[in-house]
Amino acid sequence: MGCLYLVLQRAADWVNAQKVAGFKLEIIRLLGRTPVLFFEVAGTKPDAANQPTVLVYGHLDKQPEFDGWRSDLGPWTPKYMADKLYGRGSADDGYAVYASIASVLALKKQNVAHPRTVGLIETCEESGSPDLLPYVDALRKRMGDVALVICLDSGAGNYDQLWLTTSLRGMISGTLQVEILTEGIHSGDASGLLPSSFRIMRQVLDRLEDSKTGHL
Ligand SMILES: [Zn+2]
Repeated sequence: MGCLYLVLQRAADWVNAQKVAGFKLEIIRLLGRTPVLFFEVAGTKPDAANQPTVLVYGHLDKQPEFDGWRSDLGPWTPKYMADKLYGRGSADDGYAVYASIASVLALKKQNVAHPRTVGLIETCEESGSPDLLPYVDALRKRMGDVALVICLDSGAGNYDQLWLTTSLRGMISGTLQVEILTEGIHSGDASGLLPSSFRIMRQVLDRLEDSKTGHL
């Protein structure tokens, strides 16, 4: 848990150092839950206080570093090469908080008025986000009237256009069991007389997803 705080503190220090006008940031920890980073940027549109809020979401926990890194790169030795950053979590999802603040700064630099923006950066996404909803409940009032949620946790196929992910795979978990016998029978006796349990299982799964077309 100490590690998570360090990661959050690092991000918080960078964000605070940007001195964004109208900015407030807090590391929040509900009892028995992983901590989150919560920030608010005051809107600059006329009448911003009465207009809907934009919520940016990301996470700062990461998958384990795994092996297979190129010999001149590594998870703990971040490196810039040809304008790209290589290191653990540079994509999923260490960038989210930095990109959010950089976007707000870019708007301010160009004198583009922006709505009130709040950010929620969690630290248990890779474990299935068990703590996210309790934080949404706890911060609901402070988030305000959210009209747009931007999740910075996806990929881009190139840098020439804006890429949006409109849906993600869902997940169903369960145990599928196919039983054709109540006791073991020697293969020499049963082959050809009894149906194959694997073939039945394939057909059952095909009812959920057509294996030829992927149609659900
Ligand atoms: Zn992610």
